[in-house]
Amino acid sequence: MMEDNHVSKTSPDMGSRSFYCTVCPVGCRLSVRKTEGDEIDVSGNECPRGIDYAEREVRNPERILTTTVRTESSNSLVPVRSDKPVPLKLLRECVLEANSVRARIPVHIGDVIVGNIHGTGVSLVASADLLRED
Ligand code: SF4
Repeated sequence: MMEDNHVSKTSPDMGSRSFYCTVCPVGCRLSVRKTEGDEIDVSGNECPRGIDYAEREVRNPERILTTTVRTESSNSLVPVRSDKPVPLKLLRECVLEANSVRARIPVHIGDVIVGNIHGTGVSLVASADLLRED
């Protein structure tokens, strides 16, 4: 499961936060401050994509979900990842749904293991082959 460890609040009472932009490998440390009128002020970005990222991170954060799904015999685990980011607020429910699913062997990389997980429109796809039970 993804951890949310790249975000740190610098001044919660002021509505300020800092976190790293993950859009490209440069990894700018963004400082984001809410201003009046629900606008946000972003600094630390080296390009405009950092502003878009900060907007999403503040208003509707999303994460790629990586986890494992049991096979029907429950002897093996299939590594899976979401094909798109899921809303962070639904991440726990998506993990619980993934835990309730059993994958049928053989599994090939890219196979959809769970479609439309928790109604998000996002699929969990296999990130490795699993051709037989261990
Ligand atoms: S702000 Fe721009 S340069 Fe910096 S990490 Fe984000 S995308 Fe890369």
